[in-house]
Amino acid sequence: MTPGSAALAAAGGQPSSAISDSDWSAAVTAIQGLPPTATVLLVCHVNPDGDALGSMLGFGLGLRQLGLAPVATFPAPFELVPPFDALPGRDMLIDPAGAPAAPDLLICFDAASEGRLGELADRLEHAGTSLVLDHHASNTRFGDLPVVEPTAAATSVVAEALLTRLGVRLDAAIAECLYVALATDTGSFKFDLTTPAVHELAARLLATGIRPAEISRRLFDSRPFGAMKLYGDVLARAVLEPGAAGGGGMVWSYATLDDLARHGQQRHVLEGLIDALRVAEEADLACVFKQVGDAEWSVSLRSKGGVDVSRLAVGLGGGGHRLAAGFTGYGELTEVVDSVRAAL
Ligand code: AMP
Ligand code: MN
Ligand code: MN
Repeated sequence: MTPGSAALAAAGGQPSSAISDSDWSAAVTAIQGLPPTATVLLVCHVNPDGDALGSMLGFGLGLRQLGLAPVATFPAPFELVPPFDALPGRDMLIDPAGAPAAPDLLICFDAASEGRLGELADRLEHAGTSLVLDHHASNTRFGDLPVVEPTAAATSVVAEALLTRLGVRLDAAIAECLYVALATDTGSFKFDLTTPAVHELAARLLATGIRPAEISRRLFDSRPFGAMKLYGDVLARAVLEPGAAGGGGMVWSYATLDDLARHGQQRHVLEGLIDALRVAEEADLACVFKQVGDAEWSVSLRSKGGVDVSRLAVGLGGGGHRLAAGFTGYGELTEVVDSVRAAL
């Protein structure tokens, strides 16, 4: 096994890594060749989740250990919402409007395509070098140096493998960020790609002294009382369509802006809704339609294996993974629900 694939295998990928030795060397050289005064811009996908933010900030803290001074951002709306508002390294975040126009190095985290970078996508063209760390099978291999491993459970797996190759020592702050990322994308170590190597990475992170119970409660098991009541409304109106999804069954529900207002809640509390819905054993496919504007819906899709929701989402203008994906739908709710049925 080559050193490159060994590093990734140790970190949660497979020995048959999609990342070649020359990819790893180029990524290492792009970082090690920088003077301490270099402008380094870190970016991640819009509406960042735990993997996007955790990988980005954890990697940024590692770069600081190497004497660099990165800044990090993500496309508008630029707001760090719970449960991510206490992440270590958040002091390196800057408003996207102030992001350097032509950084010496740009590193992109957890984005499958340039479109996921919104107004920051133009920085890719103007950066001295652009390095892309990701794990989406649908990654379009944009950027100068795409380092993409579709078998990795999270972008943080790729990020940690690169930090190791750079000689960065995992400390508790880096570990907390990477643990948030890993726990998010494995659904708390429950999903498909939760390999022995993922648990080995988790063990290395926990060995720094971070508190998994606290982190997991914040990530998965804590929300305002009003949000809990909102979840009650959404679950009460859930629809089961046993014949849909090729007979595998589909369960779906929705949350409107009015629901949020009635319960005094903000949009980010809806992130966990899909997990409450996808437990329905009669359905292979679960969908949650979250209203974000007059005629705009953010749609979460989850499958238990019968449907490739990544393909479904890509066909509807979005993206994601085989068992977890999403897209933005436009029009009346019924039209957007129909678009999913039609795409099936
Ligand atoms: P979510 O349902 O928001 O948790 O999203 C699940 C996964 O689908 C994310 O990790 C992304 O990889 C992907 N995804 C969600 N929404 C979009 C979108 N609008 N465009 C592309 N990919 C998306
Ligand atoms: Mn993500
Ligand atoms: Mn991810």
